[in-house]
Amino acid sequence: MEPVHLATRAVHAGNGVDPATGAIRRPIVAANSYALPGDPSELDWSGTATRLYTRNGGANQGWLEDKLVALEDPSGVTPGGCAAVALASGVAALHAVFFTFLRTGDHVVSSDVTYVATHRLLTELLPQRWGVTATLVDSSDPDAVRAAIRPRTRLVHVETPANPTTRITDVDAVAAVAHEAGALLSVDATFATPVLQRPLERGADLVVHSLTKYVNGHGDAMGGAVLGRRELVERIRADAMVDAGGVISPFNAWLIARGAVTLPMRMRAHCAGAQQVAEYLETRPEVAYVAYPGLASHPQHELASRTLDGGYGGMLAFALDGPPERQNRFVAALRIITSAVSLGHDESLVVHVGAGSSGRAAHFPPEFRRLGHLRLSVGLEDPRDLVADLEQALARS
Ligand SMILES: *Cc1c(COP(=O)(O)O)cnc(C)c1O
Repeated sequence: MEPVHLATRAVHAGNGVDPATGAIRRPIVAANSYALPGDPSELDWSGTATRLYTRNGGANQGWLEDKLVALEDPSGVTPGGCAAVALASGVAALHAVFFTFLRTGDHVVSSDVTYVATHRLLTELLPQRWGVTATLVDSSDPDAVRAAIRPRTRLVHVETPANPTTRITDVDAVAAVAHEAGALLSVDATFATPVLQRPLERGADLVVHSLTKYVNGHGDAMGGAVLGRRELVERIRADAMVDAGGVISPFNAWLIARGAVTLPMRMRAHCAGAQQVAEYLETRPEVAYVAYPGLASHPQHELASRTLDGGYGGMLAFALDGPPERQNRFVAALRIITSAVSLGHDESLVVHVGAGSSGRAAHFPPEFRRLGHLRLSVGLEDPRDLVADLEQALARS
């Protein structure tokens, strides 16, 4: 019997009895190498079909990939079957998509607000080194995506909700635009996780996750993944993993598979906490703006309500009125919320990003450019304690 509900799949998928010991948890298989068959003369040393060498695919990686597939495509909608490749980091996964599917002269249409490394890959590294060009657009407007398509557009890449502005892109609409143009659509769904949105069900060809964030959820391992049709994912595995080397370590794969067991219940708590915190911040006169898709004031609140399942995520951004020193004083006054990068951890994390309009920030909303922003990853603490922490810090800044 195949369990249908996500919470059940998160617990069981990829786990099993270890035949050597009878243990009911998968072991950590730290070995770099696997026993060769009696006649290895015909083996493909760059292949991934036979266990051979951990860079060609390890046991823990395989079990993690099974769990990710069970979460990302629970109803088996991916034509030909869904596959996952787990890599060393979220950025290794993004790079793997670009490296595998883009050639010199190709063109990408990308969200103008993306993770910082995505922005640099698409605007500096790929153009300068490989002659791949990118047009950045407001991907919340499908017509802007359509208008940016060129004859050599091979890929449309969007991030939704976007880091750090929480802008929402309509995956169904953008998938239609990409496919009209014969391009692939890849979606960085790190903020949503498969609990809130499964882009493959909405027409995306590839989904990218930073497993470092919510999927692991405990702030103690790095990883990334790409999921999609088997034929596409196997090209990534061959090119970007075996021959470019972005493989995940067995220990990190084991930790992330362990963390992912609780992803569905953690996401519900992150969403509930973030909603409560966002609503609180919006009532405060010191707070100049709050960006959170669960607020009626969010520009794509209606789209988010229609396309996210059961919550609006755990990420929000806001700023206090006043000079940058005030934001710094506020962060320093926080007692429970930790000032650190990353997100999706059990503990709440805040980052103060200063005002400005250059580089990636040129595409931020005007209030982000004017005041900077505090990116808040709402953790699993009791939201009442988080609100109390914010309140005492506001009073002292
Ligand atoms: C953190 C993040 C990444 C990069 O992931 P790493 O695991 O840090 O390499 C990519 N996309 C988004 C949206 C992120 O938040």
